[in-house]
Amino acid sequence: VVSESPTPPNFTRAPGPAPEPEKGQGRREAPSLPRWWGWGSGESRYSRERVQKILDFLRFRLGGPREGAGGPPPELHDLSLPPSRLSRPEFQRLRDLLSLGTASMEGEERLLHSFGKSSMDLLRLRHAQISKLTDVVVHPASVEEVQAVLAFAEDHDLAVVPWGGGTSVVGGVDPEEGSHRAVLTLSLARLAEPLSLDATSRLARFQCGIYGPEIERYLQPRGFTLGHFPQSFEYSTLGGWLSTRSSGQESSRYGDISQMVRGAKLVTPRGLLVWDRSTSEAAGPDLSEVFVGSEGTLGIFVEATMRVHPRPPESRWDAALLPDWYAALEFARELSQSDETPPSVLRVSDTEETALTLEGRAPSETLGSRFRDRLAPHLLDLKKLDPEAMCLAIANFQGTASSVDEGVRRFRQALRSHGGLDLGRGPGEAWKNERFALPYLRDELLSEGYFVETLETASSWSDLGPLDQEVKTALRDAAHRGKFPAFVAAHLSHTETTGSGLYYTLVVPQLPGREEEQWEALKRAATEAIVHHGGTLSHHHGVGRLHRPWVDQARGQLTTRGWRSLKEFYDPKGILNPGKVHPASR
Ligand SMILES: Cc1cc2nc3c(=O)[nH]c(=O)nc-3n(C[C@H](O)[C@H](O)[C@H](O)COP(=O)(O)OP(=O)(O)OC[C@H]3O[C@@H](n4cnc5c(N)ncnc54)[C@H](O)[C@@H]3O)c2cc1C
Repeated sequence: VVSESPTPPNFTRAPGPAPEPEKGQGRREAPSLPRWWGWGSGESRYSRERVQKILDFLRFRLGGPREGAGGPPPELHDLSLPPSRLSRPEFQRLRDLLSLGTASMEGEERLLHSFGKSSMDLLRLRHAQISKLTDVVVHPASVEEVQAVLAFAEDHDLAVVPWGGGTSVVGGVDPEEGSHRAVLTLSLARLAEPLSLDATSRLARFQCGIYGPEIERYLQPRGFTLGHFPQSFEYSTLGGWLSTRSSGQESSRYGDISQMVRGAKLVTPRGLLVWDRSTSEAAGPDLSEVFVGSEGTLGIFVEATMRVHPRPPESRWDAALLPDWYAALEFARELSQSDETPPSVLRVSDTEETALTLEGRAPSETLGSRFRDRLAPHLLDLKKLDPEAMCLAIANFQGTASSVDEGVRRFRQALRSHGGLDLGRGPGEAWKNERFALPYLRDELLSEGYFVETLETASSWSDLGPLDQEVKTALRDAAHRGKFPAFVAAHLSHTETTGSGLYYTLVVPQLPGREEEQWEALKRAATEAIVHHGGTLSHHHGVGRLHRPWVDQARGQLTTRGWRSLKEFYDPKGILNPGKVHPASR
């Protein structure tokens, strides 16, 4: 377990009932000391001992980092930042629209609102490649102020980039002006309060700039949870989740965000759109489906009503080693299709990710020492498990004591029928304790000269194995062509009865000056394999700018043209997030 205690998703320590927010006062706490070149705030949550273990593993697999690669991030005040394209009188007029909200043209504020959190974003910041910044950052504090800002942007020919937590990994918050004069980034940081809980109907209403932990801090003391825990949970927002069709790590139980939302208030350039579908409704098509996942191109989510769940009284982890990836996939399918007690989390690592998980632990950490030194040799022999092929699976069951018992019983039954070895609670609990800390590891590896990135897709159970083969072959071939070694690992997660997500982690030694080329080669190869093989273009990261070139092919032109006509209706001047989601018009 990581020694620096990452935040577990348990927020029962919150103070009594949340005060009713006054209009316009909903302001979330800015994270202290933002690591503008990396993840989160404050110090890294990875112990040096743990980082060293992982570096040893990567050196063995990939060779050491190349000369000149990596290094510490620059100082913020050493960067040279392009000036804003907004004039002072214009800025003053914009400020005059805000009575409680704020606006800034300061360089640092613009820098902090111009990059997402993909590894390429972080490398560009680390290399001080700051060619483009947003021109002004606005924090409206009421729905009326959001409306006024959009009207201002239309009148002054400004593109508007909505900003939640800025954790997009697909270029969703890039300051693209499109055909407009300049860019205004509209942050939801001052619209970030819980609004109400209807415990009888299990519905809770929030302003959309609220961060994940604040949602749970409001709900858990009242006996509820939203159940949405993406890895970016601590720094992403409800509005961002809705806009990207986000999926949390417990989606097998709670569903993705599109299955949780029951109503919303959106500001569009055409006016305020309010929808409510707390129950099923047959009065025509459901437009909400079009706004969820629209990535800030149709309107700005300012409020949402979410379905919430009573907190489950029991939660238990179990883990297993399966003989190989195909046995592991079958095991996962069987468990996910169990009608009575599907797991809330089910993650199955392929051989490479299993090796990294087992080897990359420091001696002081649970699974590493105990498993490897004492139990492993004996048990692996007994079960005839080959360390070069075996795959780690972890699962979590939530519910009443008896349903949790039943879940664990089925887990063990399934692993026996697939030749697996039960490892008990430890590995799952270790994963849970560090699940929000992993992004800090990426920062450490970037400093050490390795490039780390993730990509994801999903497919039906029937296609999962072949799709995975295609993606891995494409990635390895691309690395081979580029003449650099690559560590390619995958896991399966976000399981459903019909299929599952597949999530890839890539690590390559940075070739100084060629990092962008390395990344593009890998990303292109993987995405082409995914689209060619019928995997989803994205399972939960969204389209943004990065996936836009493939969106026609992946979704079909009749779909994407339909999206565009909605865009033309709700955003006639095309100010909202140009260059994202929609294929370029021809
Ligand atoms: C380390 C890491 C781990 C991640 N793990 C997950 C994961 O487990 N699951 C997952 O789903 N995603 C994950 N992501 C991706 C990212 O966190 C999600 O896309 C998230 O939903 C973005 O939320 P945000 O508040 O940061 O939105 P932002 O990054 O600020 O914005 C995302 C997009 O939505 C638009 N937008 C933001 N707020 C609004 C609003 N109120 N109204 C209209 N448009 C808006 C933006 O313009 C942009 O196009 C991860 C990212 C990182 C860096």
